Amino acid sequence: EPKTRFAPSPTGMLHLGGARTALFNFLFAKYHGGGLLLRIEDTDRSRSTRDFEAALLEDLEWLGLSFDEGPYRQSERGESYEEGIENLTQAGLTYESADQDGRRALYFRPPDRSGTFRDALRGEVPFSRVEDFVIRKSDGTPSYNFAAVVDDANMNISHVIRGEEHLPNTGRQVLLYRALGLAEPGFVHLGVILGPDGKKLSKRHGAASVADYRQEGYLPEALINHLALLGWTHPAGKEDFADLDELVREWDPSRLGASPSTFDIDRLLFFDARHIRRLSPDELRRRVEPFLDGPLPEGREAAALEVIREEARVLSDAPRLLDEIMAPIDPATFLEELPDSATEVFAHTATMLECRSLSDVSEARDIVQELRAWAKERSMKIRDLLHPLRLALTGKNRGPEMGLVLAVLGTKEARKRIKYAKD
Ligand code: GLU
Repeated sequence: EPKTRFAPSPTGMLHLGGARTALFNFLFAKYHGGGLLLRIEDTDRSRSTRDFEAALLEDLEWLGLSFDEGPYRQSERGESYEEGIENLTQAGLTYESADQDGRRALYFRPPDRSGTFRDALRGEVPFSRVEDFVIRKSDGTPSYNFAAVVDDANMNISHVIRGEEHLPNTGRQVLLYRALGLAEPGFVHLGVILGPDGKKLSKRHGAASVADYRQEGYLPEALINHLALLGWTHPAGKEDFADLDELVREWDPSRLGASPSTFDIDRLLFFDARHIRRLSPDELRRRVEPFLDGPLPEGREAAALEVIREEARVLSDAPRLLDEIMAPIDPATFLEELPDSATEVFAHTATMLECRSLSDVSEARDIVQELRAWAKERSMKIRDLLHPLRLALTGKNRGPEMGLVLAVLGTKEARKRIKYAKD
């Protein structure tokens, strides 16, 4: 029965590397119809906190990664490590050694100091000159390498999938499996994740934790999409995955690779904008509301959501996008910029708006179509129509599609702004 695990230490926030590891364990388990287990590796008493643990669970849930078993906590499994220690001690492979503070740590003395293990992406990986290492720290808690081996064996983990920074640990861990007479799991060490500067991804590259991305208004679907492509490729080169379900359907472990991959914030933004455009109005509304300064403009919610859907790269762009349309304007600031066509354009638009309602997006778009036809008839360049209109309505040279601008402003405000500019 295939079974993988994600085994974070609650000593900090979930970062992108950890999230990628969790994702690949999830996808691997799904691919094989197996299970995924969550194990909290909290044996480092001084650095592990329940707050970090709660944050980890929240971030994993936000990403949509669910577990079939757990969470287990290593701090609650003290007894299960004693048996292994007993076995190694019986075999004469342990000794105690005093630490600086006078308490004693328990060391493992491997019978062999070199060997190989099989990595699914790298083949046989040799290791050598492994030195004695701690299995029980002086405070009585098991070391990471020892606890991980005991747990992976007891929890029937078939495949250990983790970042390649753990390759040196794997050498130590296989020596423990061998000394304890335990079956070794399969190992998959994922390639390193680099930042755009070619250096290992770290806080230097800006937001590095999943929670940071959530707070900045990225969609979990976009983050998952990008993470999935760090060390994995689709056979047809497909790079757009709508959600986890689509990945589950298309993911295949034979496409995993050990080479480094690059996390690129611009690529994430590109994915995020695409995922935002895919959301239904209701879903977008639900997700964007926490990022808004206040309620959506009453009666014009659909138009406001459409502007966000089309223009936002991250959800936190939303207040700025709406403000760029709705903030009060002062015609004095753009008078100089108005082209000669402005007088005519404003007069005609004002007349048109008198008997029309801008209540919905399609009506507003129709009005813009009619304005275009009117301009065409008089051989007016479209730019000479739209530029003064945009200035009058928003005070800006650039912005969202004109129909949406009208619909977000609504009939009353649009009339008022055209009138201001006209007079
Ligand atoms: N607690 C370890 C970490 O967070 C787990 C490594 C492993 O998967 O064995 O790096």
